[in-house]
Amino acid sequence: MTTQAYGAQSADQPLQPLAIERRAPGPRDVQVEIAYCGVCHSDLHTVRSEWPGTAYPCVPGHEIVGHVGAVGSDVTGFKVGDTVGVGCLVDSCQRCAACGDGLEQYCDNGFVGTYNGPTKDEPGHTLGGYSQRIVVDQGFVLKVHHPADQLAAVAPLLCAGITTYSPLRHWKVGPGHKVGIVGIGGLGHMGIKLAHAMGAQVVAFTTSEGKKNDALALGADEVVVSRNRDEMKAHTGSFDFILDTVAASHDLDAYTALLKRDGTLCLVGVPENPHPSPNVGPLIFRRRAIAGSLIGGIRETQEMLDFCAEHGIVSEIEMIRAQDIDAAYERMLRSDVKYRFVIDIASMGQ
Ligand code: NAP
Ligand code: ZN
Repeated sequence: MTTQAYGAQSADQPLQPLAIERRAPGPRDVQVEIAYCGVCHSDLHTVRSEWPGTAYPCVPGHEIVGHVGAVGSDVTGFKVGDTVGVGCLVDSCQRCAACGDGLEQYCDNGFVGTYNGPTKDEPGHTLGGYSQRIVVDQGFVLKVHHPADQLAAVAPLLCAGITTYSPLRHWKVGPGHKVGIVGIGGLGHMGIKLAHAMGAQVVAFTTSEGKKNDALALGADEVVVSRNRDEMKAHTGSFDFILDTVAASHDLDAYTALLKRDGTLCLVGVPENPHPSPNVGPLIFRRRAIAGSLIGGIRETQEMLDFCAEHGIVSEIEMIRAQDIDAAYERMLRSDVKYRFVIDIASMGQ
């Protein structure tokens, strides 16, 4: 099926309308008519080849929501008209220990990303959600239970939501914990909402003084401007857990120093250039850890969506047309996103 999409032909070209081919649904496939797709900083890193290995044409987008348009003969969990989501994963080996544990993102044989992943379909790599339609194995489709009028604001949960939810759960964040969220962008603003909903004391760290009041409204108990040394110092040795969502290279020592004994700084941002090597002293002398975390598995993504539906949590979004994606990327690079751009896919036909 020929499908309208937006993508780039090379790293230095703007996104443009593209006609792509989607496979006809196989027995296990769900065909999703996409309503909205969030704009993740990973889309920008990939489409502009800031990370190695981008295949072109590149159609980004892994925060997909829409409605089921068709299902294959063996599909049991979904029917035409259902409201569904597709996140960062569309396949994995299903045989390794990680897949067995529902941690498809850590598949030993390599998961298939929603874009830029290996596939038998044309053109040999997956094409993402900046498109009117996608065909996905039923095992990688999520159910959306939020009210219909929140659908656009649900889209970012599929990456920004799960990428922050998963480490908060893994490190058992809850009442009595002091938690830091670094960077108030797409991921960070969800981290604030989720950590607050889990009952933690939340401190937001930002380089943008102008986001202070927003961060408090999102659920932060306190906001620290990270460029202010005194404000930072006041929190030395006090955090159980810090989640760092920053998309650019920066000094990690400033954050490890804020952890308690046995505290963890978990990195989820994947900057184009590496962070300066952290000092071992602050780690060794308080048994502090630096860790990383990748999105979340399908089971946990459904759990996150249900948690958000139950707690009335959605993303703070600014809706854009497909024609404006490059302008949105430029604003994202200036940390000027409040707090996630979402593409109205209906604009693609215009
Ligand atoms: P985003 O919306 O651009 O937010 C990043 C935030 O980082 C900015 O809003 C800004 O917040 C802060 N920031 C930017 N430049 C900075 C700098 N030079 N120094 C300090 N802070 C800076 O990006 P996003 O979509 O949330 O993604 C964040 C990162 O996570 C990206 O690298 C993305 O690729 C990665 N990611 C990882 C995973 C995973 O599974 N691990 C999943 C999705 C995305 P303030 O204005 O508050 O300072
Ligand atoms: Zn993402």
